[in-house]
Amino acid sequence: MELSITGNTRLAAFFADPAKHSLSPKMHSLSFQLLNIDAVYLAFEIKSQQLEPAIEAIRTLDMLGVNLSMPHKKKVLKYLDELTESCQLIGACNTIVNHKGHLVGYNTDGIGFIRSLKEADVSYQKETFTFIGAGGAATAMICQAAIDGVKKIHIFGRMGPGFQEMLAKKSAIEAATACQINLELLSDQDKLEKAIAESSLLVNATSVGMQSESCPLSDLSLLRSDLTVYDVIYQPRETLLLKTAKKKGAKTINGLAMLLYQGAAAFELWTQKEMPIKKIRPVIERS
Ligand code: NAP
Repeated sequence: MELSITGNTRLAAFFADPAKHSLSPKMHSLSFQLLNIDAVYLAFEIKSQQLEPAIEAIRTLDMLGVNLSMPHKKKVLKYLDELTESCQLIGACNTIVNHKGHLVGYNTDGIGFIRSLKEADVSYQKETFTFIGAGGAATAMICQAAIDGVKKIHIFGRMGPGFQEMLAKKSAIEAATACQINLELLSDQDKLEKAIAESSLLVNATSVGMQSESCPLSDLSLLRSDLTVYDVIYQPRETLLLKTAKKKGAKTINGLAMLLYQGAAAFELWTQKEMPIKKIRPVIERS
């Protein structure tokens, strides 16, 4: 077997802590291989105090770029040369592209969310969405949805730092887009019921549902056949929320498509080539 790594092989990477669980090395390295791109993708466990030199290494090593996850998505902004509109609005970066030493920060989580809606034939322009959760994933999805033309977004969260941050971000999203944002407490059942009744999509953007039989929505009778239900969770593939929605005849989407498409968007930014999704998806599904 011939080793394909050469003196010209470029590096892309994942910087996070922890990092070793990531599916990104498989997704990207396989895509490079399938498209005959002379590059590899590795995961590096980077501690907070190592972030600045790690970012400098993107320039030093002439890397294609990196993906970032916790705890670096917000802290990295100050080390970058340029931020896209959505990256600025979200206030977090999950992808850096190296343009000859000029580092541009993107956030492809929201892009992945919108692409997964398009793939499932779910309309979003001028629609009303309800989100449960106000953390990092919710922020990226909400900002991109607002940029891409969703008319109204109801956000339900529990009181805490995430809720307060979203409260501060609400006016920035409304100022930058034509979307109306309503932020409410998840404990307010009346408001939740009204919001879901006027929504075409319900999104679980919390980690509630990873344990079997746990569900972020306490009243499952609010689900209906014409309400698409989206869960950011991809393990398990079918949470109790999705299972119940499916039983009611609703369209359901799990977090795997978003994971795949946020990676595909980063890949396209680094290589200007489309990720071979049809070949990558079954590999990621099996992983
Ligand atoms: P995060 O920033 O910690 O936010 C989690 C949100 O869920 C916060 O609003 C949190 O509220 C809320 N929450 C947690 N436990 C709750 C509970 N018992 N009841 C009500 N609300 C609760 O995390 P994240 O990065 O947004 O990730 C959230 C989930 O999305 C995780 O399961 C993650 O794996 C998944 N995710 C998937 C993708 C994908 O591509 N599919 C991408 C990113 C994340 P507090 O602020 O009060 O804690």
